Amino acid sequence: EERFTDLNMHLEDSMTNNLRPKNFDEYIGQEKLKSAMKMYIEAAKLRNENVDHILLYGPPGLGKTSLAYVVANEMGRNIKITSGPVLDKSGDLASILSSLEDGDVLFIDEIHRLNTNVEEILYPAMEDGEIDILIGKGHAAKSIRIELPKFTLIGATTNAGKLSRPLRDRFGITHRMEFYTEAELSTIIKRGANILSIDYNDEAIDIMAKRSRGTPRLANRLLKRARDYAMINGDMIIDEKSVKGILKMLEIDEFGLDSMDRNILYKIIENYNGGPVGLETLSLLLGEDKRTVEEVYEPYLIKQGLIKRTSRGRMVTEKAYRHLGLNGGSNA
Ligand code: ADP
Repeated sequence: EERFTDLNMHLEDSMTNNLRPKNFDEYIGQEKLKSAMKMYIEAAKLRNENVDHILLYGPPGLGKTSLAYVVANEMGRNIKITSGPVLDKSGDLASILSSLEDGDVLFIDEIHRLNTNVEEILYPAMEDGEIDILIGKGHAAKSIRIELPKFTLIGATTNAGKLSRPLRDRFGITHRMEFYTEAELSTIIKRGANILSIDYNDEAIDIMAKRSRGTPRLANRLLKRARDYAMINGDMIIDEKSVKGILKMLEIDEFGLDSMDRNILYKIIENYNGGPVGLETLSLLLGEDKRTVEEVYEPYLIKQGLIKRTSRGRMVTEKAYRHLGLNGGSNA
């Protein structure tokens, strides 16, 4: 079953996306990150060098890939995009690295999922701008050193803690992505509506901004679904009625939670009296991958104060009981 809030959908972005910001002006929010990056880029340009390697971490859909595009664009360079799981042999990475042009940006999504042997190629590449590759087999095998063009690696991960120490240490700039405020999401949705020539009223924008889990990818997706809903119902404009209609269909509530999020809360309450319960047990109970629970669902539930991570496990808060209309939660 496809979930509306499934966040790992870069394909959707790249196929339908004229919504991806191209420069800092179009890149809304993340103000601290933006002003730091502007400064690094400025300084790098003055020295006629590349920007240092950058590690971005945080939940999916918050603009990591987009920022990589913006950095390349602001530097006036090209970008190559790949991801940890795709690079399964060290040769794959070696050939990408050696095909770069001077100053290029290389973006590696899900960089925590690189194979160890692939990762080991990255160390000398990042540090000294060179790689050793093995030519031939057995006795005849020879290792040759290749000088790489100067490049900036931008790595993205949902979980910086999963990165090996030597890899993490080789990034000069490390930054955590923040959830977006409602005001920022309103701006993003309006921008999207203008690009896609969608008419809207302000109430509709406000509701969409509130229910997008602080996440631009979801905000844009909700906008498109609301457009579908309005059209099918013969409306020329997205208003409160069409937004509420589509949200009801998608079972997204006032906090932007979908049925899976609510299921997480219910399961902890029904089976563990509100917790604490360990991540392992919880994931089994939900029939979901542990990583997905921890890196995709939990961050927003925690941000909303519906779940707490304690040393003994996850606990549902009183606020969550209230949100679900249940009694209890005084132990939380
Ligand atoms: P991530 O790489 O963190 O999963 P993306 O960069 O792919 O997220 O962002 C998903 C989509 O959300 C983008 O295609 C873009 O349309 C929108 N988006 C993300 N960040 C911003 C931003 N700061 N300003 C405007 N739109 C954004």
